[in-house]
Amino acid sequence: MATFFDTHAHLDYPEFQPDLEAVLERAAAAGVTKIISIGTDFESSRRALSLAGRFPQVFAAVGWHPSYVTAAPADVRPELREMARHPKVVALGETGLDYYRLPSKVSGAAAAEDESYKRRQSELFEQHLEVAAETGLNCVIHQRDSLEDTLNQLEPFADKVRGVFHCFSGDVPTLKRILALNSLVSFTGILTFKNGQTVRDTLGATPADQFMFETDCPFLAPVPHRGKRCEPSFVKDIATLASDVRKCSLETLSEQTSATARKFFRNLG
Ligand SMILES: [Zn+2]
Repeated sequence: MATFFDTHAHLDYPEFQPDLEAVLERAAAAGVTKIISIGTDFESSRRALSLAGRFPQVFAAVGWHPSYVTAAPADVRPELREMARHPKVVALGETGLDYYRLPSKVSGAAAAEDESYKRRQSELFEQHLEVAAETGLNCVIHQRDSLEDTLNQLEPFADKVRGVFHCFSGDVPTLKRILALNSLVSFTGILTFKNGQTVRDTLGATPADQFMFETDCPFLAPVPHRGKRCEPSFVKDIATLASDVRKCSLETLSEQTSATARKFFRNLG
């Protein structure tokens, strides 16, 4: 059976609390042999680490998501450095910039508040990049409506830190700008959506060693599971669609994406 990794899952979210063991069994049965649980703040990162301690196939990324920036300490670096020492930490993140939910849009705040919110996100992102450069870890990058600023901030680090632009749904020119910074992308169930033609075209144009798969579960369940809770076993559905788009076998895709993930994520094994 062709095997795959789920390189971006939120196994620590409450959605998985009732039946996590069954979720992991279904993943194994579907050939999903490694899962990276992604932290979104320190609590979530610690929960990801504890899951990595309990289950051999689970690994962790530790970080603080830009959308939760208002709750973040002024300097996240000491804690990130500490957590990065754990042998099952494979990357930092998710980190990045998110301008989709700005204070003015969410609560009708003044535009000046948007500016200070963006500045805080940028400081937080910078701290992740600094620790990544120090520790030799790569970054799991979340960007939404913030592509220019994200690329600009990543650029000075491009010779030391690679980013995976997770949940990538952009077009080919955007992909090329990411690859030019020595970064890469990962694709979710959006590939299977009816309105996902742009991202399917992008997948078709992505070099074989520059992409990975992820579910971003519990969000973004692929067809035919849309509307349900997403889970790591659904990587199989994403990979199956991708093998149609790229006109290659599941075995080839398995080899390509697993090798890419092993290179990108430290200690993934
Ligand atoms: Zn995520």
